[in-house]
Amino acid sequence: MKYIFVTGGVVSSLGKGLTSGTLGALLETRNLKVRMQKFDPYLNVDPGMMSPFQHGEVYVLDDGAETDLDLGHYERFTHCKLSRFNSMSSGQVYEHVLQKERRGDYQGKTVQVIPHVTNEIKDRLYAASKDVDVLITEIGGTVGDIEGLPFLEALRQFSLEVGKENVLFIHITLLPYLKAAGELKTKPSQQSVAKLREIGIQPDILVCRTEQPMDDDMRMKLSMFCNVEQRAVIEERDVEHSIYELPLMLDKEGMGELIVQKLHIDCSASDMSGWENIVRRVISPSNGECKIAVVGKYINLQDAYKSVYESLAHAGISNDCAVKILRVDSEEVEAKGAEAILKGVDGILIPGGFGDRGIAGKVMSAKYARENNIPYFGLGLGMQVAVIEYARNVLKLADANSSEFDAKTSNPVISSFEDLDKATSMRLGSYECKLIGDSISSKAYGEEFIRERHRHRYELNNAYRSRLEDAGMVVAGVNPKRDLVEIVEVKNHPWFVGVQFHPEFQSKPSNAHPLISAFVAEALKFSKSK
Ligand code: GLN
Repeated sequence: MKYIFVTGGVVSSLGKGLTSGTLGALLETRNLKVRMQKFDPYLNVDPGMMSPFQHGEVYVLDDGAETDLDLGHYERFTHCKLSRFNSMSSGQVYEHVLQKERRGDYQGKTVQVIPHVTNEIKDRLYAASKDVDVLITEIGGTVGDIEGLPFLEALRQFSLEVGKENVLFIHITLLPYLKAAGELKTKPSQQSVAKLREIGIQPDILVCRTEQPMDDDMRMKLSMFCNVEQRAVIEERDVEHSIYELPLMLDKEGMGELIVQKLHIDCSASDMSGWENIVRRVISPSNGECKIAVVGKYINLQDAYKSVYESLAHAGISNDCAVKILRVDSEEVEAKGAEAILKGVDGILIPGGFGDRGIAGKVMSAKYARENNIPYFGLGLGMQVAVIEYARNVLKLADANSSEFDAKTSNPVISSFEDLDKATSMRLGSYECKLIGDSISSKAYGEEFIRERHRHRYELNNAYRSRLEDAGMVVAGVNPKRDLVEIVEVKNHPWFVGVQFHPEFQSKPSNAHPLISAFVAEALKFSKSK
C-alpha cells in the first residue's frame, strides 16, 4: 500500500483538487487502483451548511455525504467510488474525539491534540487503506495555517509508521510573476517549504503553478533551497483550453513516471489515449457548437455550479461539439424579461438552488423555453420551477408555488415530504428511479431502473399529479418505494425535462451523463435548425 499526500503553499485556489485528481488519473493510466480523499481543516462538520459564497458547490456522494467540491474533481478524473469516509474536516475529528471523551473511552486521561486528535486522523488513513494500490489524500488550506497543524503532524507520524518509502509528499506552490522585475519569484515557495520542514515534512515533489515557463536556473534554485531533487521540481502551467488537458500536461512533465519511481511501484506503462481523445474533442470539436443558458443566482461565483458546468463540457465531448455556456442571472431575467436575455440560446438549463431569491426569473425562463420549443433541462430546483410554471400557466392555478417559497399558498404543487434525513431534513444521496413509458428520459438512459443523487427538502406534490398529467405533463420517472415523482417532461415539446435529482454529479469527461448528453444533442440540433 502506497500513500500520496498533497499539500498547498503560498496561496489558496492553486487548483490543488484538480492537480490531485490528475495524479489519480495518471496512476489509473498505469492500471493502478487508487482511492482519493480530502481532509479539510475548517471546523464545520461538513460543507452542507456553508453558503455558496463561502464554499462553492456542495458535492453529494452516493451515500448522501455533503462534501467539498474537490471530491467532484476526484470522481471526474478517476474511477474511484467515494464515500463519506473520504471527506473529513477538523469539525468531524473533534466531534468524534469529544463523543469518545463523553463516553469515557479515554479512561480518565487528559485529551490532547497530540495524540488523541492526531490518532483520530491516522485512524482514518488506516481505514481508507484497503483494496487499492495508492491512497491519495489532499490536505485543504495552506501550509502555515494554524488550523492545519494537527493534520500535518498526523501525516508526519503516519509516514514514520508505514515506512517513508511508502509515502510521497507532494507540495503544490505558486511562482508569482513580477512584471516590474520581469521574472518568476521563488521566495514564497522557499518559505512555504521551510514551514513544512519545520514540522518535519520534507516534500518529495514540488509542483510549481506558474503562468510563465520555468527555466533551468529556476529549477536549480528551487531544488537547492527546498531540498527537492531537480527532476522533482515540476512545472504546472495554466491550461489553455480545458482542465482536462492537465493529465497530458503533467504526464509530459514526467509526473506519472516520477511518482511510480519514487514509490517503487511496479506497473504497466501509461496509456494516455483516453485523455488524448478527450482533449482532441475539447480543442477541435468536429460537430459545431451550441449555446446553453444556465439560469441561476450565483452566476458570478466560479464554483457555485461547478459540476453543472463540467457535465455540460462532458456532453460537449460526447457529442464532439463545443458547448458555449451563457451564465444568466435569474434576477436579470426578472428585470428585463426572458426574451431580452435568452433570445438566441439553443438550450436553457436551470440548476439546483435554495431560497426564493431569483425564483420569478427562473419561472419566466422555464415558460420561455416551453413556449418557444427551446430545449429545457431543470435540475432539482429547475424541475420544481418547471412544475410551478406549468401549474400556473397551463393549469391556470395562478398562485401555484412550492411551500418553500410560499408556505400559505393554496396550491402547493411542490411541498415537503416527511421521509427526510433527520439531521439535515433533506433527501440526500442515491435513490432508485423507475423510468416509465416511452419518454425522452427512457430513450436517453436506455434502462428501466437508474440511480441518481439527491439533495432537497421538497417534492412534487402527488395531489396534483393527475391534473398535471391530464394537462400534458408527463411523469417519466418515479421513485418506486415512495412513489415520488423524479422526472417530468412536457408533451408536444421537442425536449423539456425536469429531474428532481442531480445527474451532474455522475458525469465524467470519459463518460458523459446520458441525459445531459441528450440535452446537448438536442440543443445542437436546435442550433442547426435555426
Ligand atoms: N430548494 C429545493 C428543495 O429543497 C431544491 C433543492 C435542489 O435544487 N436540489 O427541494
